[in-house]
Amino acid sequence: MLQKIKPNIWKFSFKKFGSYVYLIKLKRKNILIDTGSSDNIPELEENIKEAELFTNNIDIVILTHNHWDHTGGVILFPDAQFYASKKDFGENLIDISELNIPEFKIIETPGHSKGSFCILYDDVLFSGDTIFHRGTIGRTDLPGSSKKEMEKSLKKLSKIKYKILCPGHGKGTLSFY
Ligand SMILES: [Zn+2]
Repeated sequence: MLQKIKPNIWKFSFKKFGSYVYLIKLKRKNILIDTGSSDNIPELEENIKEAELFTNNIDIVILTHNHWDHTGGVILFPDAQFYASKKDFGENLIDISELNIPEFKIIETPGHSKGSFCILYDDVLFSGDTIFHRGTIGRTDLPGSSKKEMEKSLKKLSKIKYKILCPGHGKGTLSFY
């Protein structure tokens, strides 16, 4: 399902379990944040069409962290450049520190996973599985999680000013991968 968040930002959500996917159309580049689970691939493809793009029009895919419910759709984008944290993905992808999009501010927020980060774009915060709506937060009982790191990250985020929160999951449920 497609939801317009701003004139150039869309949120994709799916019938089967998987993270939300966000599409940001910048002047020169089309960017996706996360890709949902592999169960969502047909719907993801359809949503991109509804947003008047083809999958090969996606220039950049940013993965907020390395969990299967966020990375399952990557095979749809063989031509895209993938950015993520080396702390989560090793050398397989371009490290997020090398992302050259001045409009995007990357905020490292380890805790849910070692390499989790959030992206601030204008007054929108894409928060992956670090924070969700209604004050809920991502799990810290998974491999690579750290409660202590999460506390530090939450403190960091509390100082960030934004108006719209775009998390990886919704409805205030606590339990995610
Ligand atoms: Zn996760």
